[in-house]
Amino acid sequence: MFEGVQSPAQATYGPFSGQILFSVLMLLGLACFAYIVMKRMAPLLRAESDFRFDRPLVRLGRLGRFWLGQWKHPRYRFAGSIHILIFTGFLVLATRAFSLLILGVSGSFVMPGFPGMAGHIYDGINDYGATIVFLCMVIAATRRLVFKPARYEVPARYGKGHKADAIFLLGLIAILMLAESVFEGSKAALQAQQGQPVEFLAVLSLPWMFKNAFLSISAPALWDLYRASYLLDVVTFFFLLCYRPFGIQFHVETSLFAVYFAKLDRGTVKPVRWGVTDDQLDKVKSFGVKTFQDFTWKHMLDFYSCADCGRCSDNCPANAVGRPLSPRFLTIKARDYAFQHYPVLGSSNNGTPLIGGIYSEDEIWSCTTCGACEEECPLLIEYIDKIVDLRRGLVDDGNVPKSIQKALKAIESRGNPYGKMEKKRADWTKTKEFQPTCDVKVLNGSNGADTLYFVDSITSFDDRMQSIGQAAARILNDVGENFGILGPAEKDSGHDVRRFGEETLFMALRDHNLEAIKASGIKRIVTSDPHAYNALKHDYKDLPPVEHISQLIAREVKSGKIKFNPAEAEDNSKVYVYHDPCYLGRHNQVYDDPREVLDAIPGVKRVEMARSRDRSFCCGGGGLMLFYEPQEEQRMGVKRVQMAAEAGANVIVTACPFCMVNIEDAIKVSGMEGKMTAIDLAELVDGRLARAVPSPAEIKEEPVMV
Ligand code: SF4
Ligand code: SF4
Repeated sequence: MFEGVQSPAQATYGPFSGQILFSVLMLLGLACFAYIVMKRMAPLLRAESDFRFDRPLVRLGRLGRFWLGQWKHPRYRFAGSIHILIFTGFLVLATRAFSLLILGVSGSFVMPGFPGMAGHIYDGINDYGATIVFLCMVIAATRRLVFKPARYEVPARYGKGHKADAIFLLGLIAILMLAESVFEGSKAALQAQQGQPVEFLAVLSLPWMFKNAFLSISAPALWDLYRASYLLDVVTFFFLLCYRPFGIQFHVETSLFAVYFAKLDRGTVKPVRWGVTDDQLDKVKSFGVKTFQDFTWKHMLDFYSCADCGRCSDNCPANAVGRPLSPRFLTIKARDYAFQHYPVLGSSNNGTPLIGGIYSEDEIWSCTTCGACEEECPLLIEYIDKIVDLRRGLVDDGNVPKSIQKALKAIESRGNPYGKMEKKRADWTKTKEFQPTCDVKVLNGSNGADTLYFVDSITSFDDRMQSIGQAAARILNDVGENFGILGPAEKDSGHDVRRFGEETLFMALRDHNLEAIKASGIKRIVTSDPHAYNALKHDYKDLPPVEHISQLIAREVKSGKIKFNPAEAEDNSKVYVYHDPCYLGRHNQVYDDPREVLDAIPGVKRVEMARSRDRSFCCGGGGLMLFYEPQEEQRMGVKRVQMAAEAGANVIVTACPFCMVNIEDAIKVSGMEGKMTAIDLAELVDGRLARAVPSPAEIKEEPVMV
């Protein structure tokens, strides 16, 4: 209620009454906003479908946690805290903005439920809200202009930066906060000058400071200030509302929907087309994303929702080693493309190919699908599905790097990327060192087993990685598992074939393995390869329960079936560090089991790397990445080995054969041979198990020194 001071609606502005002027401004502002949003939504309406309407309660819960609760923001403590303050201030000020705007058309308006004292308290909270948001704008602008955090920078190859846009928006919000505060302060000063009851203003808030500063100003000047600040507030508000869909601030509106519709299931890959079954795929004329219009509506919504905070790229290993990929710019370039080709004024003009247009082939092949970007993004923006879809488009057009083509052809003809004969798949079980220690059954339909040890290609055929398979088999044997392998009947799990965009080849591999697994009659599956684990768990359907060997070991350590040799055997100079494989950790949340196993081994001294668990740094990518040499300044594995050394470790333990290839290679390349070794968790456990008959690993005592 405006006691004694006319409301903006009752005031006059030149020839116009406030009520008419603000009604017109409000209608114009809302109409412009509605039109711009409609134009921005136009490509989404024509986009590919996406199924995001399931599990509404789960989605609402995540909305509360990640959007309203700003769950991921504190991962960057300072910037995150600022963002939480701004976001909270915005929520408080949203209702205040509404009540202020109504004052322009109705002088007697009081927010429902907030008359009297409750209204004063509410006003006090608003006063502090405006003050905090203003200060946060100043801090955020200073950070961008003076301290220039590296993650905001835009390398020349990714086009022009959006710093000016960001600063302009911060400035607009700051003006809005100032205008509101001057309005409140001048109103209170007028009330004081007229000897009327003065509205409560929170002590030390901006409106309170303005009120005190204005008390000595003459009444006519104060009145002008009062009216002008209100006009400025309304104009800035609607300008900001309509300007936001042209830049990063659009994320304030769209992120609400992007978070609600975010992907719920980890480790999965989207189908080629939502609503098209595998049997109908041969009718699909074009696979994957080739033009902007091939993205799904949710992926387009992601482009609009990115806050350009750079956290994804800051954590992307490909970006860190100088590969031509930065997830942030995958989004920013697509958003710029959408703004340019679906303009607010004029007609749309889509259809130009994305590859060779805004993206390069190397950029798309550089991703290891490690998931660090998605884990970090506070708005749950997705990358892997988009990259896989872009690769599907490249594969469909025959644009696959030669080295990968060769591996894919070998998988197609022989079921493994090395082109080795199928009948040699179980040869690792027959070596003269291994066979006397463990008899591995090759399941053929007549010899049953409860557990299938799914080996996958690298462990079956790579001489070094066969040692992981042998260690895993001996552990299974020791804990009394009745297990077997598929041998020649097993083909590559197809995990990385799928993530490289070769969906039809993946489907053939999956169907073959499904049939072989079903024919074997097993009741559960164990694998020592996180890529196979992820494929069997998420890409295959209707399989018995699947476990990674680290989960089984952790369980059997707890049950007492696995006991370790006493500490005397342990070398005190060894410091172990566990490297989380992406497809065990981030994609499947298996973080604790391998650590618990390590901690249960007597005498094992373990440290953590700064980047561990869900912030683990990819070793360089598994699967077909082994067959691709992207442009890069440094190998990811080398960076990872340096991180282990910085943590004070000299033994890197991992639980993935692909990590082992990359890490051992990196130890050699970085000249750390003799100073650093790598060992798989299964090998370490196998070597430390308390057994009646020692294993060859125990006899050797030491892991392989590379
Ligand atoms: S999945 Fe990993 S490599 Fe790929 S863009 Fe994301 S962070 Fe980078
Ligand atoms: S995708 Fe997410 S993490 Fe990356 S810049 Fe955008 S908002 Fe930030």
